[in-house]
Amino acid sequence: MSEIVAFIGVGNMGSPMAENLIKAGKKVCVFDVSKEMLDKARERKFDIADSFENLLSRSPNIVITMLPAGKNSKKVYLGENGIINKVSKDCLLIDCSTIDIKTSVELGTKAKEKGIKMIDAPVSGGVMGAKNASLTFLVGGSREAFDSAKPILEIMGKNIFHAGDTGCGNGAKICNNMALGISMIGASEALMLAKRLNIDIKKVHEIMKNASGNSWPISVYPPLPGLKEGVPSNNKYRPGFSAGMMSKDLKLAIECAEEVKANTPLGSTANTIYDEFCKEGNSNKDFSAISKVVGGNAWDYEIDD
Ligand code: NAD
Repeated sequence: MSEIVAFIGVGNMGSPMAENLIKAGKKVCVFDVSKEMLDKARERKFDIADSFENLLSRSPNIVITMLPAGKNSKKVYLGENGIINKVSKDCLLIDCSTIDIKTSVELGTKAKEKGIKMIDAPVSGGVMGAKNASLTFLVGGSREAFDSAKPILEIMGKNIFHAGDTGCGNGAKICNNMALGISMIGASEALMLAKRLNIDIKKVHEIMKNASGNSWPISVYPPLPGLKEGVPSNNKYRPGFSAGMMSKDLKLAIECAEEVKANTPLGSTANTIYDEFCKEGNSNKDFSAISKVVGGNAWDYEIDD
């Protein structure tokens, strides 16, 4: 009999990830607290559980969660009716949400106490990566749990890294996204400076892609329109990866940097810049819209209201 995969959280990322599992022939049942998301999943012909309890009553062999933050993961995994208490011992638990390291370790430890294998497996690659099944998975957990999870992760992604023990997947993800938040601001500053200097932005972009100023935001996800097809800056900055999510990840980075006394001056500055941008009502814009802050009155592009 084929394995039953319970998938919780079918938002921007979870939905295409679940779809790739279905396409690969997995028996997937999904649940989300949002009625809107469940309706969308129904339209895509996903098998829907109408409640969390109903989902777990299907005796899943694997549970995958793709939720916004640590508090959401805690809610579904812990407690009397939580996943850890309800699934069988041979069920594999995979939390793909980007969450704080402490929560991640707490969940992994509770699962271990029950003899259940669990990994934290946050992803990099965004919605495009989720759709194209080209995500990078950053996995924390035992070698045994990693080996068990690898085949299913390979259906949704291309690069599957074992970062270390429980919590290290989220630790690696937080470091990566701190660098990304900083470099998106850097790319925006460079391109907007070119604009103010009246140098053709397209030319500067082409040069940077082939010079030492290149970065992921320059080559893959440019923050200004007209430089690359299919990126949020060309779609009125609809996410994508929202500024709110980036702000959450930067807060996680600063929190753990303070804890281990790491010096992260640019991470702190980026955290402040995204935080203010979100407080001005931009949480739902793509994070590349941070170029608006950098650009000031020279920034004159279309942005979704
Ligand atoms: P999203 O908000 O689109 O989706 C999350 C879904 O979880 C929502 O549909 C929400 O209703 C659901 N949810 C929340 N609490 C729930 C609960 N208790 N039970 C069931 N469903 C619940 O977010 P997303 O963009 O898909 O991101 C999900 C995670 O992936 C986040 O941790 C984010 O940081 C990470 N991530 C996102 C991207 C990206 O580009 N969007 C890239 C890498 C990592």
